Amino acid sequence: MDKICPICNKLYEFKIPCPVCGKIMWEKGRNEEYLDDYTANMAIRSQSGCNHIFYCSRCGKMESICINNVIM
Ligand SMILES: [Zn+2]
Ligand SMILES: [Zn+2]
Repeated sequence: MDKICPICNKLYEFKIPCPVCGKIMWEKGRNEEYLDDYTANMAIRSQSGCNHIFYCSRCGKMESICINNVIM
């Protein structure tokens, strides 16, 4: 069985409310793509989840959220 990230594989969209203002945040891509060199050095990749950046268009808050992988 494979464990995959539902966002990277476009299984469904995540609706993450902004912790500051409550607006639904936009998914901006994976940490590694967004921050390239910085996170590449941090060995952020884990087997259990995939880190994605979420951005709030109302207040500008950015959050890195670990999405649990699902078993296909
Ligand atoms: Zn992912
Ligand atoms: Zn916000």
